[in-house]
Amino acid sequence: MEKRDYYEVLGISKGASEEEIKKAYRKMAKKYHPDVNKEPGAEEKFKEINEAYEVLSDPQKKATYDQFGHAGMDGSFGSGGFSGGFSGSDFGGFGDFGDIFGSFFGGGQTRRQSTGPRKGNDRFMQMRIDFMDAIFGKNEELTIEVDEQCSECLGSGAKSKSDVQSCPRCGGTGQIQSQQRTAFGVFMSNSVCPDCQGTGKKILNKCPKCHGRGYEHKRVKLDIKIPAGIQSGQQIRVAGKGERGVNGGPNGDLYIEVLVSRHPSFVRDGNDIRISIPVSAVDATLGCKVDVPTVYGDVELQIPEGTQHGTQFRLRGKGVKTSRGQGDQYVEVRIEIPTKLSREERNLYEKIRDSKGHESAFEKFKKSFKK
Ligand SMILES: [Zn+2]
Ligand SMILES: [Zn+2]
Repeated sequence: MEKRDYYEVLGISKGASEEEIKKAYRKMAKKYHPDVNKEPGAEEKFKEINEAYEVLSDPQKKATYDQFGHAGMDGSFGSGGFSGGFSGSDFGGFGDFGDIFGSFFGGGQTRRQSTGPRKGNDRFMQMRIDFMDAIFGKNEELTIEVDEQCSECLGSGAKSKSDVQSCPRCGGTGQIQSQQRTAFGVFMSNSVCPDCQGTGKKILNKCPKCHGRGYEHKRVKLDIKIPAGIQSGQQIRVAGKGERGVNGGPNGDLYIEVLVSRHPSFVRDGNDIRISIPVSAVDATLGCKVDVPTVYGDVELQIPEGTQHGTQFRLRGKGVKTSRGQGDQYVEVRIEIPTKLSREERNLYEKIRDSKGHESAFEKFKKSFKK
């Protein structure tokens, strides 16, 4: 199923403020919560709402989404091995009311309970490159925004080691038990400690460089090496340039899906290249020499006398070179029959037709045809 636009899901416009996003989410989530709304489809709707909010409430994810849409988001690529930020596990447990509603009624932003270091989510991008660049490889410079561990405090957010203490509110566990009175009754729940946001730590003096955040938001230039022979749809992984890690965990990775543009004449077929060339009926009949374009420049090819339409010639080794071998180029002959003849040409063609020994192909077929 096609994913709906996240703004559309929450019923807000693209320029909506943080507060508007939050408000829209509360309204929608209340309406479609599966414990409240028993209509068919409510659960799917609720999942969709949560997914939209998960992205739009996170400035980094929101920026990626605004720029690349769903293609830029984790998990939408379907290839395995990516730790998508909203895999099923995040939304599976609807029984855990407090967990979801905790974020409405004064709880922390994060819905995760874990306080240990966690690797950040992977990020996805797409990059379009020329047909020739895919064959010969290319270094492409790419500027991205990324959160990197603060070089001053190495991610602790503290000015010095002694500035890190155990959070007194939660005793260092990062979680507190709370009772919540909601429109649906009173719920007991474990929620993320609002004082330490689940880290279990209290910072006395904050790192002056990152103001206690533990990371720096940077614009970095990446030199992306696109290997020779890359195929459209292949991904390049750039380690550590994904979303920032949580609680001192490493960054996720950046995956760049390479999309190769079509060429007007060459067609890629694995490591082989195909091209179709026009040859006039006369040239095919008598034979001729042609300079066939290849990605390495023109190569002379002898079209033998009597070449038929659709005949393929192979130019060995003129395909794509990769570390795993080299392809060939296949040249398919397309015979072109003239649609307009000069007076002289008409005379010559008529001479051929009337010449001794010339036999019409159709007459030949009729002679051998059996009822
Ligand atoms: Zn710092
Ligand atoms: Zn705490």
